[in-house]
Amino acid sequence: MIFRLFSVFLAMTVVLSCNQAQAGYEARETKGPILSLDGDTLNRVEKSEKEWKAELSPHAFQVLRQHGTERAFTGNLWNNKKKGIYLCGGCEAPLFSSKTKFRSGTGWPSYYEPIFEGNIIEKTDLSYGMKRVEVLCARCDGHLGHVFPDGPEPTGLRYCINSVSLKFQEKNNKN
Ligand SMILES: [Zn+2]
Repeated sequence: MIFRLFSVFLAMTVVLSCNQAQAGYEARETKGPILSLDGDTLNRVEKSEKEWKAELSPHAFQVLRQHGTERAFTGNLWNNKKKGIYLCGGCEAPLFSSKTKFRSGTGWPSYYEPIFEGNIIEKTDLSYGMKRVEVLCARCDGHLGHVFPDGPEPTGLRYCINSVSLKFQEKNNKN
């Protein structure tokens, strides 16, 4: 019984952890150009709300363009263990590698660092009465998720990202 209660408590803690305020981490000014995997500089992508709406699924539009959050354990990538690259679901800028993905137990894909620092933006987010650090795509300003200071080494960070904000490109013989 005690074990059962503990499991429920643990599950609740984990489910809440992408929404909880965590002290001790301030939004950084990320540096560097926006880069492709080949190291070329990528131009910014700017589209009207109407254009994004026409291009994205309703769910992707709600998360990427309206700062939404998908429900935990409902996305298609939180449990993806394949090797490859996670691109922005809006503009396809390379954002995260499977090499830095780790099992966080939160139900959202989690990484300890982006591929290129300049490909993301960190911003203080004071919504819902909490102080969090929002993560956005630097190329298209799409909302990706949040970053928390409770990740594994070597960075100690946990980029908690919505699956619907990403596109997975599986590693093949060419890349
Ligand atoms: Zn983007």
